[in-house]
Amino acid sequence: MNSQLELLINLQNIDIELGKLEDNYKKIPQEIDQLYHICQQIKEEIGQIKKEVDQHNKDRREKERGVEIENDHISKTKVKLSQVKTNEEYSALLKEVDSVKEKIKKLEDEDLNLMELIDEKQKNLKEKEKLFKEEEKRFQDVKVEKEKDIEGFKKTIEEKKQQRESISSSLDNKILQDYLKVSKNREGIAVARFSDGICQGCFLSLPPQLASEIRKNEVLIKCPHCQRVLYWEG
Ligand SMILES: [Zn+2]
Repeated sequence: MNSQLELLINLQNIDIELGKLEDNYKKIPQEIDQLYHICQQIKEEIGQIKKEVDQHNKDRREKERGVEIENDHISKTKVKLSQVKTNEEYSALLKEVDSVKEKIKKLEDEDLNLMELIDEKQKNLKEKEKLFKEEEKRFQDVKVEKEKDIEGFKKTIEEKKQQRESISSSLDNKILQDYLKVSKNREGIAVARFSDGICQGCFLSLPPQLASEIRKNEVLIKCPHCQRVLYWEG
């Protein structure tokens, strides 16, 4: 095979590898970020639940204070009961006691509902806190692992770049410039295999005369349709 052709094939292989390496390398910070955001989101949810529990506890204290006030009200009314002179006054005070008792019952029911609600939220809180610990650990583990990956990627990319440099310097400058131009315009593929009478870059067929020249792999021949350099694998 023509040595320039061989170099071109190697150069393209390295460029493809480098492209993939750089893509994966760029994704690493995003992968770490994603896990970090999951942790932050759970943390926010925990904060929100805690706030709600605080509010419910505050509401409970208010209900309990209300019950105390109403109980006091009943005691005072009972004292009045022992001092009344008429039946009308007596029955009016009894009515008052009944209505206060109803009020107390309502406050106690509301307090009980709040208690149940708090219980439920506390359970949810525990689950979220457990989940947070798990996600936080996952985040830390992945971060350490990915930071190691970054070092590996950097090293491999550097090695590939050096290989690329060495191939580029052995290539005829005109051939290299052509390669770079076509590669840029043809999504990184400037050298294509020729088989079954078809350019495997653009999948168009070539005249038989050209095909027999390509099969020799002796000179650089470009596909007349897509300008890619063609080679024959045999
Ligand atoms: Zn072509």
